[in-house]
Amino acid sequence: MSEPVKQLELSHEQCWSQICDVLKQEIGESAFKSWISPLSLGDFKGSKLVLVVPTKFMSDWVKANYEKKIIHILKLLHSPIQEVVFQVVGAKSFANANTLNQTSDQVDAATGKLISIAPNIEAAELSKEEIISEGLDASGAKLDQRFTFDNFVVGKSNELAHAAARRVADADQVTFNPLFLYGGVGLGKTHLMHSIAWHIRTNSPGRKVLYLSAEKFMYQFIRALRFKDTMSFKEQFRSVDVLMIDDVQFIGGKESTQEEFFHTFNALVDQNRQVIISADKSPSDLEGMEDRLKSRLGWGLVADIHPTTYELRLGILQSKADNLGVSVPIRVMEFLAHKITSSIRELEGALNRIVAHSDLIGAEITLDSTQNLLKDLLRANDRKITIDEIQRKVAEHFMIRVSEMNSSRRSRSVARPRQIAMYLSKHLTGASLPEIGRKYGGRDHTTVMHAIKTVQKFLIEDMAFSEDVELLKRMLQN
Ligand code: ADP
Ligand code: MG
Repeated sequence: MSEPVKQLELSHEQCWSQICDVLKQEIGESAFKSWISPLSLGDFKGSKLVLVVPTKFMSDWVKANYEKKIIHILKLLHSPIQEVVFQVVGAKSFANANTLNQTSDQVDAATGKLISIAPNIEAAELSKEEIISEGLDASGAKLDQRFTFDNFVVGKSNELAHAAARRVADADQVTFNPLFLYGGVGLGKTHLMHSIAWHIRTNSPGRKVLYLSAEKFMYQFIRALRFKDTMSFKEQFRSVDVLMIDDVQFIGGKESTQEEFFHTFNALVDQNRQVIISADKSPSDLEGMEDRLKSRLGWGLVADIHPTTYELRLGILQSKADNLGVSVPIRVMEFLAHKITSSIRELEGALNRIVAHSDLIGAEITLDSTQNLLKDLLRANDRKITIDEIQRKVAEHFMIRVSEMNSSRRSRSVARPRQIAMYLSKHLTGASLPEIGRKYGGRDHTTVMHAIKTVQKFLIEDMAFSEDVELLKRMLQN
């Protein structure tokens, strides 16, 4: 073997190992095991990171879901690698990864399209632990112990979804069908669904509950097709009292799975069984979904989970710290709640990291150590505020239209908000004065400068005005 070239940069192996660490934190153990663990590093290609993937299906999936994240992490690592290349090698080289899978490619009987299945999903599929309800074959998913109603913190952004979930969990009869929960990543959809399942399992053990991701639903369907066993597939799904399908957006564009899902769904609803669905978008906004399915999904109660508020984030941190049995200084929690706004999963990950760190080195958790430890995460969460956003928020606040703000009108009712918006644009974005001027109906940079000066003057002289601007600023930064 030749000597490795000496360089300051991380080697490809080091990069990959760091990427794996970060991804595991971000996407969770089980997704990591399903999608990232089976990948291996291919031959070095300078500025490329070559990842060897067992199947085309898996390659498409990882590309669609994780490629951006991987590139983002590479940037954080200051790596010169700019591109990720997925190299599909036949499943045979991965034969020992899964003894059940003879060949991983097959044809979807309904669409005639070639489908590949990642072998490890199949292996995971058959694990006994994953069976959540007696009397059912390996079809459910493992319920997370932590995902109970007791551990769910309720705030403005999720109160409707929470109330609906509780209602469904408590009711012996079907109230609304389906219950459709939707919201962005990491906002608690899966947590609520597992909570319902736990609750029913504990309180009405006679009811059969089945929880699974849409991805697993599809997988099982394809498997049933392959083994020509669609009868028992249908039977299995249609004999439950409560069916929960998580992340239904996954079957967008997958026609035959949708078709089967539609029939299963109808059969259950017709028999007055409860169906609970989650997705990242509302039924009507789901992409690649048949119209009749979209409309059917919206028939019951549609409850959305909004992005979190600062208060909810703080509440969640407090509750998680209590559960971990650690005391985290309030200032640190406030800092985290303020800075990590993207998803609760990330917020939780951050808390776990600082707790684990202090545990390991036996040092107290401080604001300084937190900032240090979470540098990469904090940078990724530094939101870029845009001028458009500022205009929208300011216009909304003063109850005028954005078009009015950018018009040539000079009356005070629009001129003052316009000046404030310009001031905020200067302070919250990296835009130059001429750029700002252009965004406000093509005004000159001297007009922008004048606006900023005027606002600065009022900030000193007028308390109410200054509070208004401060409030807007905080809203935009949250
Ligand atoms: P989603 O399914 O919407 O992507 P999850 O349900 O997986 O999100 O939630 C991500 C993480 O955040 C989980 O660890 C979950 O326990 C936690 N979480 C989300 N919402 C809440 C909440 N309201 N209270 C406590 N923990 C929450
Ligand atoms: Mg989820």
